[in-house]
Amino acid sequence: MLMINETHDVNLTSWVTSANSKSDFPIQNLPFAIVKRKGQKEAFRGGVAIGDQVIDLAAVAKLKLFSGVPQEALEAASQSTLNDLMDLGDEANSALRLALSKALRADSPLQTALAPTLISQGDIEFGMPCQIGDYTDFYTSIYHATAVGKLFRPDNPLLPNYKWIPIGYHGRSSTIGISGQQFHRPVGQTKAPDALEPSFGPCKRLDYELEMGLFVGKSTQMGEIIKIENAEQHLFGVCIFNDWSARDIQAWEYQPLGPFLAKSFASTISPWIVTMEALAPYRSEFTRPETDPQTMSHLTSEHNSRYGGLDIDLSCFIQTKTMRENQQTMAQLSQSNFKYSYWTPAQLITHHASNGCAMRSGDLLGSGTQSGPTDEEAGSLLELSKGGKTPVDLPNGEKRTFLEDGDSIIMRASCSKQGAARIGFGEVEATILPAIV
Ligand code: MN
Repeated sequence: MLMINETHDVNLTSWVTSANSKSDFPIQNLPFAIVKRKGQKEAFRGGVAIGDQVIDLAAVAKLKLFSGVPQEALEAASQSTLNDLMDLGDEANSALRLALSKALRADSPLQTALAPTLISQGDIEFGMPCQIGDYTDFYTSIYHATAVGKLFRPDNPLLPNYKWIPIGYHGRSSTIGISGQQFHRPVGQTKAPDALEPSFGPCKRLDYELEMGLFVGKSTQMGEIIKIENAEQHLFGVCIFNDWSARDIQAWEYQPLGPFLAKSFASTISPWIVTMEALAPYRSEFTRPETDPQTMSHLTSEHNSRYGGLDIDLSCFIQTKTMRENQQTMAQLSQSNFKYSYWTPAQLITHHASNGCAMRSGDLLGSGTQSGPTDEEAGSLLELSKGGKTPVDLPNGEKRTFLEDGDSIIMRASCSKQGAARIGFGEVEATILPAIV
């Protein structure tokens, strides 16, 4: 189990001085992305954020300053995707984290050698962090499941399986993009409740979903199960995830086999992946109300009960076309926290592999919309507008029930706790273009 160690020490500072004050990326974070210099004809490769800089892992690997497992991990991280690095597993990644932490500390003798491997974050372009073979989306917020259930099925909001198994569906990985994504409003088949027949045209109820994305680390073979005690060895890290949803398409198509074209037109991930190890100080208890079914034994462990949750603050903002044109700042729509999740990341991966399903490094597990217990903590416009009945007022006088063309949605995430360094995830941003008709 990856627990708190010297890399989390709140007193550590870096010779990259921008990391030492008000940054999402202090030396205690060290998240991974795939990067290259903007506008340059060069290969994408792994990078780690430190302050307002990125350390180019391919350049570091070439210097051969390290040996053994950290050097092997650096070479895996020099490729154009992080899949091989992810597949090395938690111990190798932990060794690389320790080596990078030591090398970036204020008193490191490697400063002179490593300084030329830094690239300013303003000068980089991100690539997809890995090849996402499969994408599964879960439904782990009981507040979201209940609120949405009420809108779709007023008399039967939460189905009886919800408290027993993590509910999920298989999504499409082919349309997942990196922050900065722009996509056209989807077109599809919908049926208004009072219409006699469905019609085909641009989506009228376009929505976002505030989620976390979990990346699978070490792969498993078909037939191999993952015990909950070992589950986190198969989780590489976490990003912010916007799972765009077409609510009118969803309402018409989702029964009996679940979401399909309502979800597969676009999803956007943040470029930085915060490792499970970096999140160690922000673990939270996993408990269930005593009146709820307790988790089955294969989804229960002492470690999961004590540390299974993740205390990650989430916030969501909108910038409309009008705001952009008038240089108005984006408006906050809601804030929530990943600790409200009814299932833990370890339970999701154990459940996913419990039938022998092979998990591959780079596979993405969406957490499902992370709504909290209060109305203000809703993770989608569907909930904030009560199914489109109550428009959300924006500070510049605009209103939204669902998203309009030109709207950008921005999501941020961070962890803070007494006695630990504050770490952030950066942000994920994407913009809706008009439908192609
Ligand atoms: Mn979703």
